[in-house]
Amino acid sequence: MQLRSIHNAVIPCPTDGRRASKARNLVFPMWKLKNGLYSEVELRKYDVLNFTTTSLCGDMKNKKNRRKFLEEYFDIQNVIFGNQTHSDNIKIVTEKDMDGKFYSADGFITNRKNVPIAVFTADCLPVFIFDKIKKIIGLVHAGRAGLSKLIVSKAIDMFVKNFGSNPRDIYAAIGPHICKKCYNVNLDAMAEEQLKKTGVSDISNSELCTYTGDFFSYRKTKTSERIISLMMMEIPY
Ligand SMILES: [Zn+2]
Repeated sequence: MQLRSIHNAVIPCPTDGRRASKARNLVFPMWKLKNGLYSEVELRKYDVLNFTTTSLCGDMKNKKNRRKFLEEYFDIQNVIFGNQTHSDNIKIVTEKDMDGKFYSADGFITNRKNVPIAVFTADCLPVFIFDKIKKIIGLVHAGRAGLSKLIVSKAIDMFVKNFGSNPRDIYAAIGPHICKKCYNVNLDAMAEEQLKKTGVSDISNSELCTYTGDFFSYRKTKTSERIISLMMMEIPY
């Protein structure tokens, strides 16, 4: 499928249900690295699929809508996600966890290929983590409460302890979230500080704000709808 070649992108869903193969030009890789390169380029060579939807894709917590979207766009039938409670619980998962188990967790880590992990957000930070050498992915839902519990630091620690990662090999991307202008807490700074303190310096941060952009914003409308961020290492074709 054509769209498997997009990585680390924000997907504004076409509302007319166009097939993925025709929707390529609707995909914007918008997360810039500090050196001016797009992170998309960085992750493509590792076959890591990595995206966040917009509100135009609809509520991704809605099972029917989510399944339709993931199947149509990415040929993904099952995705691992948790009952998010603003905790610091992070679960290491494998293909065995794709059988519909439901975890109370706000983050997932895996070293397996074709095991998609996901988090739902509406203002909170989706934090994508990838060890380029050991080939480990992680995805964390980090809001004010989770960041206060140091969930991002914990995720990096788990990479190190469980998989022998060197933080210098880890790349982190913060997806669309409420920006510091629209919220009285600088969530970006909290997340970036935790990354830097654990030795991660290769960080990109989305400039897209969920409060002002085409996303769901809990702060704005108290909505229960959520966008999805998804990450998966793929077996190369
Ligand atoms: Zn904003």
